[in-house]
Amino acid sequence: MPVRLLNTASRSIEEFAPLDPEGRRVKMYTCGPTVYNYAHIGNFRAYIFEDLLQRHLEARGYEVDRVMNLTDVDDKTISGCRHHGVPLADYTQTFKTAFFEDIKTLRIKPASHYPAATAPEYIARMIEMIQGLEAADIAYKAEDGSLYFRISRFPRYGQLAHLNLDELRPSGRISSDEYEKEAVGDFALWKAWTPGDGDVWWESPWGRGRPGWHIECSAMATALLGPQLDIHCGGVDNIFPHHEAEIAQSECFTGKHFSRYWLHCAHLMVEGQKMSKSLGNFYTLRDLLAKGYTGREIRYVLLSVHYRLPLNFTIAGLDAARTALGRIDAWVERLQTLASGCAPAQQEGAAQAKEGFLQALDDDLNISAALGNLFDWIRESNRAMDSGGVSPAEAAGTLAEFQVLNSILEMDAESTTVPAAVLALVEERQAARAAKNWAQSDTLRDAIAEAGWQVKDTKQGAQLTRL
Ligand code: AMP
Ligand code: ZN
Repeated sequence: MPVRLLNTASRSIEEFAPLDPEGRRVKMYTCGPTVYNYAHIGNFRAYIFEDLLQRHLEARGYEVDRVMNLTDVDDKTISGCRHHGVPLADYTQTFKTAFFEDIKTLRIKPASHYPAATAPEYIARMIEMIQGLEAADIAYKAEDGSLYFRISRFPRYGQLAHLNLDELRPSGRISSDEYEKEAVGDFALWKAWTPGDGDVWWESPWGRGRPGWHIECSAMATALLGPQLDIHCGGVDNIFPHHEAEIAQSECFTGKHFSRYWLHCAHLMVEGQKMSKSLGNFYTLRDLLAKGYTGREIRYVLLSVHYRLPLNFTIAGLDAARTALGRIDAWVERLQTLASGCAPAQQEGAAQAKEGFLQALDDDLNISAALGNLFDWIRESNRAMDSGGVSPAEAAGTLAEFQVLNSILEMDAESTTVPAAVLALVEERQAARAAKNWAQSDTLRDAIAEAGWQVKDTKQGAQLTRL
């Protein structure tokens, strides 16, 4: 059975086949972070869904060439650097560095390329594309000195988002990067410099200015992957106007169909409400790590709900992830002990269980069914080991099949290295105990527990275990 995916463009499930005549190489573009702040776990939901898609395609034998851009110039990054009074590049560097640390923590497979919009070769490509659109009279310069895309010249504008432009009566021009569907209109490709931009500008055939957000992705995608992509992904909030604009710009410039499949993940909610800064229910990855949860546990939560369903993020969900992972760890440890380095024997049941998992993912990444299969397999395998019916070679065979699933899940147990911050608390607590300051010692015990570790006082000294 081929992989089947829900294509936002057709709103139907379609069989996946790449453009590559040999049917192997897949060109995938994923909209990356706007580096004006630490990425929040909603952003990471999108990146983990894309990671699942890439890893599953690879498990099915495809070679995925994935690009994820870094939006390091747009309305938000400019307003952030101006507010803090630092150069744009310095301001965005902090969040770029944090982003790469965070994807490592979440075990997200690195993309093949991470182009940054401000790199000279991509600014040049944006200008080249806008010039091409201007020559075709699709882009025009307005009184404000900025260049706009004439949406009336692209009749398919609105098709991805299923908008009826006649009903919406498009009118006027929009200069901001983000806007609602009701405000549909000619959008900015190149924004003429204004005092609010400070020292953020590039020279262009139209004078000093900077690119609009949408042209950045069209330029980076086509520069690195060519005029035609297999898959383009993002969160549902990207469908309009961002992806709609990307299609219009790219197709008018290259004359080719831009992307065959469009996939979008639903939003992440927190405790039943939309995650937002104003509601105060806003988590970065760092917030959750500080509460003692691990990258693996957060990865599990973000991965375990089907990408098209809203994910209700709760702390209870993280605790449930810890329990689920504990079951996987205990099973793997038991198999490892039994196998004790034995060569794997072919295991019919394990091969079937693995195939059941992969087939569930073939069905538009049905992760709930896939994990359901995995836990059924764990239960049956534990039962067989309870009754002594599993040989060391069979245990090794089971582990080998599990490794195929784990190349997608990436759920190996965390190394039990104790974080330096926890070790410092333990030392402080030892000092408090030596000084018979029991209240202080208890407070520190609680702080250690808060960070996810239990401290026990033994004759050999303090011993730490993961909570
Ligand atoms: P941004 O940095 O806002 O450009 O977003 C980067 C990526 O994260 C895009 O693909 C967004 O669609 C996605 N995204 C933003 N917020 C959420 C959310 N709450 N849930 C899921 N994905 C999101
Ligand atoms: Zn984009």
